Amino acid sequence: MTRRFQVVVIGGGQAGLAAGYHLRRLGLDFVVLDAQAESGGAWQHPWNSLHLFSPAAHSSLPGRLMPHQTGEAYPDAAHVVAYLRDYEKRYELPIQRPVRALGVHRDGELLRVETDSGTWHARAVISATGTWWRPFLPAVPGRAHFGGQQLHTVGYRQPRDFAGRRVIVVGGGNSGAQIAADLAHDSELTWVTQRPPRFLADDIDGRALFDAATARRRALDQGRTDTGGVASLGDIVAVQPVREARDRGLLKASPMFTRLVAGGVEWADGTRAEVDAIIWCTGFRPALSHLAPLQLRGRRGHIATVGTRAVAEPRLHLLGYGDWTGPASATLIGVGRPAREAARETADLGA
Ligand code: FAD
Repeated sequence: MTRRFQVVVIGGGQAGLAAGYHLRRLGLDFVVLDAQAESGGAWQHPWNSLHLFSPAAHSSLPGRLMPHQTGEAYPDAAHVVAYLRDYEKRYELPIQRPVRALGVHRDGELLRVETDSGTWHARAVISATGTWWRPFLPAVPGRAHFGGQQLHTVGYRQPRDFAGRRVIVVGGGNSGAQIAADLAHDSELTWVTQRPPRFLADDIDGRALFDAATARRRALDQGRTDTGGVASLGDIVAVQPVREARDRGLLKASPMFTRLVAGGVEWADGTRAEVDAIIWCTGFRPALSHLAPLQLRGRRGHIATVGTRAVAEPRLHLLGYGDWTGPASATLIGVGRPAREAARETADLGA
């Protein structure tokens, strides 16, 4: 069976919902295809202690403020999932679940979306599939020889699973710092980072990050000097558990080791540490394999965009993957504006 819409949105996490909100306001005929069985995108799968790095009111999609979570200045992931579930109901967003897009193809004037549940045709496609589904692991020699447990951020849940064990957490970003803080109390923790950790000032949270990303985009758009954006402030938001562990001296970082050996890791000077588990908090890449048939990837695997629009395929928009698809577009508060622009541009393509 084939179905035809003006716009197909691929991905029903926060970015896909923000796109849906604006497509609905513009009166477009659209569908959102989401691979998950339930609402909430990646927020359904985090580690147990994860909280937002901004208060609820500063973590809202267009049209509806996230309600305050009783007893929590910074809401937990379950609260975000409930908010997203409520959001899609409130705006009656036409979401089909679970439907996984397998490939987007050019088909004359239309784009054809092949999925595991049939085919959709559309004038335009907004891809909003996030990054959680494509964990990145750096190439480190000896990985195959290591006999202990290895997992990425996506596989970590709670400190209990590592109590009393010798654990290395790799990564100097927010995930690395938060998971290291989680494990600092009951595990034999070694936290390794490529460069000394850069904590943001204690009074800075996601609100300032959003402002910094927006100011940088504005400066670049107006041809002014690059302000450095979020990176100029630091890498780690000092959320409460991170601050507490750091202040108790439990978050001392070691430099990155150079290889893995059977029982652990080895640094450049030959020092070794015996280890039971390594948790790679080394980031993500955009989940874009469904776009491969369009052959848009340039050098280094990057798809060139102007705003959210793919330069080489103007019927395709990329939404929510990071600053390259709109300032702070990978955040709840930041995705609204690029979603509005993507929806408007798809409307301009006509019915
Ligand atoms: P996702 O939530 O991943 O949603 C994408 C959806 O698309 C999923 O349902 C997925 O199953 C689906 N999908 C994927 N591939 C396909 C396919 N081929 N076909 C159909 N569907 C598909 N942001 C904040 O604003 N505040 C925070 O405090 C914050 N903390 C974060 C903490 C962590 C650890 C991480 C990783 C991110 C955090 N973010 C935060 C960033 C961001 O808000 C989340 O990553 C968010 O989940 C991104 O939403 P998204 O809609 O782009 O992607």
